[in-house]
Amino acid sequence: MKTALGYAKINLHLDITGIMEDGYHSVNTVMQSLSLCDEVSVSLVREPVFDAECNVDGVPTDEKNIAVRAAKLYFETVGADGGAHIVIDKHIPMAAGLAGGSADAAATLVALDSLFGERLGRDKLCELGAKLGADVPFCVACGTHFSDGRGDMLHSFPKLDDSLIFVVACGGEGVSTPWGYRLLDETFDRFVGYIPKDTKALRMAIESGDKYAFAEHIFNIFEAPVLRERPIAAEIKSIMQSRGAICAMMSGSGPSVFGVFEDEQIASKTAEEIRALGYFADVARPIGERYTRCCVK
Ligand code: ATP
Repeated sequence: MKTALGYAKINLHLDITGIMEDGYHSVNTVMQSLSLCDEVSVSLVREPVFDAECNVDGVPTDEKNIAVRAAKLYFETVGADGGAHIVIDKHIPMAAGLAGGSADAAATLVALDSLFGERLGRDKLCELGAKLGADVPFCVACGTHFSDGRGDMLHSFPKLDDSLIFVVACGGEGVSTPWGYRLLDETFDRFVGYIPKDTKALRMAIESGDKYAFAEHIFNIFEAPVLRERPIAAEIKSIMQSRGAICAMMSGSGPSVFGVFEDEQIASKTAEEIRALGYFADVARPIGERYTRCCVK
């Protein structure tokens, strides 16, 4: 058995650049891994059966689980016999815009590749990941990356200062990504004549290590329309702002919100305060590139 960590993803920048012929939105995005993670343990079994179990109710245990699909795809790709059993210890909230499912799929690929003597390696795992979902290649690679198009091709971006302290929080009704895109289309009139923001200022802010400039240049096009529909997420954001976050923003299509803090104690107290309201909240750090992250258990 091998255990790998699947790290949560937040978007430091997320904008729409157009709608493709097949109806998909093309994006410009800067993604960041956080230390908030699921623990994914993969065991090889003799029979050609692929399934999962999870500590959280409502996570599918059959092929509806993206981690199970990842394992099947890995076996087909390397031509292996037998199957795999996956145990997911989930800490990343579901349907929250934190790519929890994609993180589990990535961890499954990494754990399997480790079990098979690293037969595929990082780049091939990213290629496989793209067949499972747009966020999976990023979740394999981790770190800070820019992506455009469907969001599955990774390009380098300056690395975020890992001394920054994040609070990630989530409460209220979840968001399905297709619902989020429909809401965007209505709000922005299907993006006819829309001019996306570029990421130059964010790039420069990260390169210079100026955290206030960084705070000023994060952006998420989903935020305003989704927060209007998800008042609890808006409440969480305003708690973070009023407790001294240098910035706070929704991640992905929401409803999770992250805040960036300078003081660890204030970050912990803010997370505690949000948890006392019955919502999920955790303190997290940025994670750099690290595609191998297996430990034997
Ligand atoms: P994204 O930002 O990639 O859309 P998300 O964080 O918003 O992801 P997920 O937590 O990945 O959303 O889950 C979305 C849905 O996918 C869930 O409602 C669940 O039914 C299904 N799902 C399949 N596999 C998993 C998994 N391993 N973990 C969580 N959800 C999963």
